[in-house]
Amino acid sequence: MLPIKHDMHIHTFASTCCLDERQTIDNIVLQAQELGLERIGLADHVWDNPNLVPNDFYKEQGKNRCINLKRSATRFKNSDIDVLVGCEVETVAPKKFSITEELANELDFVLLATDHFHLHDLVAQPKKYKPKHFAKHMIEMYLGGIRCPFGDIMAHPFLAMGYYEIYEEIIESISDRTFIEVFQETAESGKAVEITTHYLGNPTRRRLFSRDIPIRILSLALEAGCKFVFSSDAHQLESIGRVLELKTLAVDAGIREENIHKIALRG
Ligand SMILES: [Zn+2]
Ligand SMILES: [Zn+2]
Repeated sequence: MLPIKHDMHIHTFASTCCLDERQTIDNIVLQAQELGLERIGLADHVWDNPNLVPNDFYKEQGKNRCINLKRSATRFKNSDIDVLVGCEVETVAPKKFSITEELANELDFVLLATDHFHLHDLVAQPKKYKPKHFAKHMIEMYLGGIRCPFGDIMAHPFLAMGYYEIYEEIIESISDRTFIEVFQETAESGKAVEITTHYLGNPTRRRLFSRDIPIRILSLALEAGCKFVFSSDAHQLESIGRVLELKTLAVDAGIREENIHKIALRG
């Protein structure tokens, strides 16, 4: 049994990358209720770190929108759906994050993204764009996220955003043993592993990589004792429903109801 009753990664119109004006908190809640979800997490991109310089995209993503959203979510307090407001934090480099712990403490939860490699002007890049170098860099960035003193969920782990042409080779160059070690540290940190719709590929394009890749990653995370959450990473209303498509992928990786992280369970 693996019912999908939550979606912990939904963007709202407060993210500048979200171009859907209908992506308001009210519309998102209605859509989630129609899908039978009991708990959702709103997670926009936020920059609130005075010690680091944001790129142009993040300049527009101050913490106020996020704080306002949190305030407006209080009206769902007694409804049949939990509406959590958090944010998606950028890992610029290991130990360098787009927000401070102070803001993290004000939010309901925090997603840590460690693989936005397509943001060349901001995110640390590998020494060489060879699969082996990329893999090493990807692991260092991921471990940076795990060792971050705050954060609850590892967003879309082990993707190579912007570099899908070498993605399969990158993942193949990482041994099962390395994955197990990294995921054991994840389990010990208490952070959840996200099962993301990015693993399904883009339906409008050719599938970008074999389904065996996310199955392998998730199976090893499970073996290492990790707990999981489901996420649509939706930037538009129609995409929220894709979270339900993750069920077969998760089941095939051996994930069951008892492996769901407590952050995704209705409080
Ligand atoms: Zn992301
Ligand atoms: Zn996202």
